Amino acid sequence: MQHPSGPSDMGTNHANQPLPATVIDPEYAGEDTDWSQSHVQDAGPATTTVPPRDINVEEVLAGIASRGWTTTVGEAEDSDSDTDSDTDKDEDDSELEGIEHSELENTEYEGISVLDELAELIWEDVREKASDLSDLDMSYLRAFAFKIEEHLSERAFAKLPYVFPSADLDSLKKIRTRITQLSGIEPSPFDCCVNTCCCFTGPNSDLSICPHCREPRFDKQGKPRNRFIYLPVIPRLQGRYANPTLAQLMRYRGEEHIHVPGKITDVMDSDVYRNLLGKHVRVDDKTLPHTYFSDPRHLAMGLSTDGFCPFRRRKKTAWPLILFDYNLPPDIRFHLEHILLVGIIPGPKKPIDADSFLWPLVQEFLRLAVGVHTWDAHTNTFFQLCAFIILVFGDIPAISLLMRMKGHNGISPCRFCSIRGIRIPGDRHTTHYVPLDRSRHPDIRDPSTPTVYDPSNLPMRTHSQFLSQAREVQSAPTLTKENELAQLYGIKGVPVLSYLSSLSFPNSFPYDFMHLIWENVVKNLILLWTGKFKDLDEGNEEYTLAPSVWKAIGEACNASGSSIPSAYGPRPFNVALDKVSWTADSRSFWFLFLAPVVLNQRFRRQRYYNHFVKLVSLINICLQFEITIEEVSQLRKGLIEWVQEFERIYYQYDPSRLCVCTLTIHGVLHIPDAVIYAGPVWTTWAFAMERFCGWLQPAIRSRRFPFASLDRYVIDHARLTHIKNKYDLKDVLRLGPQRIDKGKVYIPYDTCALYPPYHNSISLPTSLQLKLINHLTLRYPEATSVTEIRSILPSVVEEWGAIRVLPAGDRIYASSSSRRTADTRDATHVRYELLVDTNSRYHRRPVVMEKQTFYGQLQHIYAFQLADTPGRIGQGHERPQIIVGVIRGCTIQRNHPTLDIHYYEKEGGLEVVDITSVQCLIGRVKEDKGWAIIDRSGSLSRAYYIEDGDDSNVV
Ligand SMILES: [Zn+2]
Ligand SMILES: [Zn+2]
Repeated sequence: MQHPSGPSDMGTNHANQPLPATVIDPEYAGEDTDWSQSHVQDAGPATTTVPPRDINVEEVLAGIASRGWTTTVGEAEDSDSDTDSDTDKDEDDSELEGIEHSELENTEYEGISVLDELAELIWEDVREKASDLSDLDMSYLRAFAFKIEEHLSERAFAKLPYVFPSADLDSLKKIRTRITQLSGIEPSPFDCCVNTCCCFTGPNSDLSICPHCREPRFDKQGKPRNRFIYLPVIPRLQGRYANPTLAQLMRYRGEEHIHVPGKITDVMDSDVYRNLLGKHVRVDDKTLPHTYFSDPRHLAMGLSTDGFCPFRRRKKTAWPLILFDYNLPPDIRFHLEHILLVGIIPGPKKPIDADSFLWPLVQEFLRLAVGVHTWDAHTNTFFQLCAFIILVFGDIPAISLLMRMKGHNGISPCRFCSIRGIRIPGDRHTTHYVPLDRSRHPDIRDPSTPTVYDPSNLPMRTHSQFLSQAREVQSAPTLTKENELAQLYGIKGVPVLSYLSSLSFPNSFPYDFMHLIWENVVKNLILLWTGKFKDLDEGNEEYTLAPSVWKAIGEACNASGSSIPSAYGPRPFNVALDKVSWTADSRSFWFLFLAPVVLNQRFRRQRYYNHFVKLVSLINICLQFEITIEEVSQLRKGLIEWVQEFERIYYQYDPSRLCVCTLTIHGVLHIPDAVIYAGPVWTTWAFAMERFCGWLQPAIRSRRFPFASLDRYVIDHARLTHIKNKYDLKDVLRLGPQRIDKGKVYIPYDTCALYPPYHNSISLPTSLQLKLINHLTLRYPEATSVTEIRSILPSVVEEWGAIRVLPAGDRIYASSSSRRTADTRDATHVRYELLVDTNSRYHRRPVVMEKQTFYGQLQHIYAFQLADTPGRIGQGHERPQIIVGVIRGCTIQRNHPTLDIHYYEKEGGLEVVDITSVQCLIGRVKEDKGWAIIDRSGSLSRAYYIEDGDDSNVV
């Protein structure tokens, strides 16, 4: 500890450790392909005879930590109990300290070792055992799965044998012991500071007091006062590859996704990913013979964290560290069962030295960069499992923590560029704001800093600049100098994640779209419009909405509750009164779909509305399934204009109004960069993390020991998941009937399913009969006459209550069969597409059919068979199946000039259409005289965070 009296957020003790000669730099990775050279050069003469494949990870780690730092996790670990393993670890550490590198060389090499060969030999035995778990094991597993999935307390579980006396259920203790054996997953506990400043790992591992708060590590009995429970990743990844279904699904990245140059649809189209392709993997300063992602089984992973409050209205936070697997297809990637929790940094406080909690993870990923001998159940072969973290994401405080940046308090608060932050003149707060234009700010006299930043040419940070600044801070000769440099660069030191060569600083750390837009930009806009943003008045603009206007807007939102289908998300509420129902999800729905309708004509000047609508259009581009490079340029141009206009309206270049120019408004300028560097916004947004935290919440059983109860739960859960994977028990352990879709599918209508209520003999009224005949005449031009059609129509038809467009559409109800109550949310209005003759008004012109979009209410669904194929009377060839919808159309009067919003006041006549023309549900918002139609079906958001598939909650 060089700075024992230093400020608490500065100079973590390993921050001042000398670094290895070369800091990993992906920009250069792969250029230096002469791995044998670098190996010889750095590892000393003793290693020259060693085959190049044999990189000793332990040695590399020891080099990075610059002291005796050995593995305590991963596949090498074999511990009996928590306490024992810890003691072992300490002994190992002391033993290793005196050992020369040459001795270490002979201990363990990566690559295929004797141990691996042994493992291959016994593998078949192990697999046979897996296939016949005993009946008792299965009953244990079912009971355990029930406890975990239902968050059953131990007390409730202990009552089960009394509820079901014949079930002969053993105690939870006994069950848990067996589950532990079956899973083979052993958590690795690490001591950490009682105030969670740091974890006693790596260079901290021998300390007996916390270097930050000086609290002792152990209590009087010599027991650690606080623990960080780490769940090893490697065995769980191996468990996934031992599962044939998952092993195949995890080939999505390498074999299913197709990169089309100029288009961005997934992480695999991002710069951070593509720049690694073809480059040799580097571990510390050594280049390995294999290249990144050369095997479809190499895993691309994302790391995420977020401060999570175990209790509402209490300041305690915990920080779950979770991993996402980008090898899985996008639709299942964020399901809870596929998220890997590596540990929860316990509270009560935010860690000061997050790096010390990341040590075990970095350790495992260095090992995974080299490769771990693993069974692939899809091909029934062994392979070298490699995994690389390529993206890290979360909100700004979380990522500042992982990148070791100062966040909004630094002079350079932005992680993507080195724009200089400025403070409100005369304000005592240290928050720095980042307007583009600061020409009227009194502090800007220094000619070296620009008075106006060019948003199309911001001073972007690069990987090598970031790390050289980080090193400069870390090696500063004095604490004063270190503080000064940290403040200037906004960087507190070299982050431990920079040792993972697959990560690029800052490009692998995109701003999280959910926090940036929904939790900040939109929230602040609403506060500005309602005059509640930090007591700021509207200056010389007129953007605030009078309280009576805002009240009316709130009521309009509330009134749309029953005309927005529940498939669109939670019921819209009165935004003027209800402050509890705001979530990132409800805010996104409000902003993108309701606000463009309810804010129309409400501002005193149209330009405030136009400015807001511009952001909606730009966000819609971000949410497209596929973004082209041209669209990214369009996005860049649009966002620059939007931020400049924002400054004109809300900041007014007035230094006293600086507080509106937050880092998050500036962050909007980096969204296009983030799409290019890191891929589409949904691949790194925090919705999945948020849902994960919601899932953790009920695991907190004890108010006195919230973190211990969380740990207990996540260990149990990890073990259960691992067993399900390893023994392929997902279906066997499904507690409940498999959800079977009871829809009726008629061939050739295989794109839609019909649902009850069902009536099998309905006679159509004459008016509908005529419309039906008309529809069939158009459909069968080969029919000789209307009479012919009439003659093959059945006298009665089937009527159905609802349809679903397969495979994943919403259920759409026919208004005739749906029972409405005051709370019912409409699910009968639809968008439908018909082929229309664009020349129908001109008799002499040729027929030119074109698909056009219509909206209306689905009133009936009829299914029937014709007596014969039209035009083949009497031939008895086929009896075609017909399914039609009867729709009352909405007469669209006008369209929104830029958004997909359509207005109508009147309904049209009834229309008979083929059921396949029905596309999806629409929502309607009440306007003065009529309705506005909104359509969420094109938006990505629904697919990725509302629907979670069948097994979303199955763990
Ligand atoms: Zn401490
Ligand atoms: Zn920036």
